Amino acid sequence: MHTTQTHPRVPPTALNVRLREIGKTYGKLTVLAGITLDLNAGEFVAITGPSGSGKSTLLGILGLLERPSTGVHELGGRDVWTLPDAEQSRLRGAQLGFIFQQFHLLPELSALENVARPFRFTNVARTEARERAAQALERVGLEQRLTHRPSQLSGGEQQRVAIARALVREPPLLLADEPTGNLPQSMWSEVLDVFSALHQSGKTVVVVTHDPLVADRAHRQIRLAEGRIRIA
Ligand code: ADP
Ligand code: MG
Repeated sequence: MHTTQTHPRVPPTALNVRLREIGKTYGKLTVLAGITLDLNAGEFVAITGPSGSGKSTLLGILGLLERPSTGVHELGGRDVWTLPDAEQSRLRGAQLGFIFQQFHLLPELSALENVARPFRFTNVARTEARERAAQALERVGLEQRLTHRPSQLSGGEQQRVAIARALVREPPLLLADEPTGNLPQSMWSEVLDVFSALHQSGKTVVVVTHDPLVADRAHRQIRLAEGRIRIA
């Protein structure tokens, strides 16, 4: 696997994450009850905890996909929910990469086209987008699969395509929600190896998992129970 860095035009900035007393409620249901947490740029963190403990909700908040009900969320020293919408969108697109349990690849597109997709509404030209998509696929060890469609790939390969798509714009922060949850255990290591390599190349990696084997890859574990951080 290649871990050599490509050279993005804008170098990734150090993106520290600071959560202060983050709460999330849906009606009367309290899902997160005051999360205070710092993530330093370059960390590899696992968020663990039983089903329903609020892991996905917390990751959605970290990814700016969900707005907390209370508390402060700072990214790179800026209070994200006070920023203009356009700036929030820019952060989502350029600074954050999200990887889901269900891959969410478009079945009619090739691996290369799926990975080039995040450039669609940017001013990156089509040729350059395809070039960078090919580099991202090479980084996850799929340089021989550029023209394959998702249905022609194994589950582990599909998830690696999804990881390539998340990193193609060189975000400093990657967020993955149960990335091995849809895969047989025999395919876990190929996916986890990619996260380890990305961490080594300087990315901040946050992986949500309920599996201790996956969590062991990370350098720090944050355990949630009933919407709070538990000290292990
Ligand atoms: P985990 O990922 O740890 O399994 P989640 O963050 O997905 O937990 O969910 C925590 C709790 O919040 C669950 O009880 C779930 O039903 C509830 N929940 C999540 N999203 C919503 C929503 N959009 N509306 C209402 N309840 C929700
Ligand atoms: Mg979840």
